[in-house]
Amino acid sequence: MSPAAIIREAETQGIEYVGITDHIHKGTDPSFLGLLRADINSIETSCKVYLGCEADLPAVGESLVSPYVLANTDFIMVAANHFHHPAVVKPASASREDVARLFLDMFTYAVSLEYVDVIAHPLYVMPGSYNPLAPSLLTEKDLAPAIELAVKNQVAMEISRRALMPEQRPFLVWFYKLCKEAGVKFSIGSDGHRICDVGRTELVEPIVSELGLDDSDIWLPALRTAQHTAKPG
Ligand SMILES: [Zn+2]
Repeated sequence: MSPAAIIREAETQGIEYVGITDHIHKGTDPSFLGLLRADINSIETSCKVYLGCEADLPAVGESLVSPYVLANTDFIMVAANHFHHPAVVKPASASREDVARLFLDMFTYAVSLEYVDVIAHPLYVMPGSYNPLAPSLLTEKDLAPAIELAVKNQVAMEISRRALMPEQRPFLVWFYKLCKEAGVKFSIGSDGHRICDVGRTELVEPIVSELGLDDSDIWLPALRTAQHTAKPG
């Protein structure tokens, strides 16, 4: 998954925009972003390449997005549900109620942060962590304040292939519909961890169709940092 290999694969598929979002967990040295930027800038390509990150939210009130991270990325994606990671807060108990409460609190905090551009796989329960049906206890009334904040702060929701998990899909599609009705924008993610995943966004096409999304619903990052790989035009 070197930038050169990713960009080459994206070009092969005729992809116009590619976003790269390495994980930032608690303890990750973010200086890799500067190296990654230099690497990307050295590649000549017709793709528009955006350098982002997927930063964990360790707990409500805690952030891993430092001024350095902000200065070296085009966009910030935050995961408010990496509860499988040891450095991320855990619910008071594994009961559906406690799990749902923490999902909501973390999500609400994430969309309140002005620098956040996208929420990674929102309200998705990682396999083997908690009851996958826990977040479906959340009602429209529970979620409305957070969705309003997402609109106000222009925070987009990622539609990832995780949302296709049969158990979780009904709740997640319902949630995405609430977001769309409220005017939230969406980001289509491949969740690519291997070269063969690059551009595999067609997997979420059934959800995109079900939601009736068009180009106007899709969020794209602005290029925050000065240097960019794309050739003019
Ligand atoms: Zn993630």
